[in-house]
Amino acid sequence: MILGPYYIVALVFVGIFLLVFAYGIFSAAPTQRKKTKKKAAAGPSVGRCPLCSSPLAPGEQIKSAIFPGETDRLCHIFGCPHCHPFIEDNLRRSCPVCGKTAPPDVYLIARMFDRPGKKKHIHILGCTNCRLPRTKK
Ligand SMILES: [Zn+2]
Ligand SMILES: [Zn+2]
Repeated sequence: MILGPYYIVALVFVGIFLLVFAYGIFSAAPTQRKKTKKKAAAGPSVGRCPLCSSPLAPGEQIKSAIFPGETDRLCHIFGCPHCHPFIEDNLRRSCPVCGKTAPPDVYLIARMFDRPGKKKHIHILGCTNCRLPRTKK
């Protein structure tokens, strides 16, 4: 075997490389963990539920119905996975406009401004209690 010694040298070299690489990962791990922790804490970009104000994890979406329109669209906001259709025990659903407690059948009425090149802007007008004229029961 002519390649024998060369093969061993290559193996040793790979071994050293792996050791350095592993050390690099090991020493870098705590800083990386700190970074992700910081990222998770700085999560207001994900948003909060306008009804129960619970912070939304990535992937959690507010249930809403958007009606077709031109520049601004009417939008009904029913709640987030924490408060719709079933509200969690420690949460309270309330209207951000009138401040009244919003039972599960109450939803928010909002306008969504969808301008090209700009971030979507949602303006909450009120809930079915304060926005719509009360239908006498
Ligand atoms: Zn909610
Ligand atoms: Zn209201």
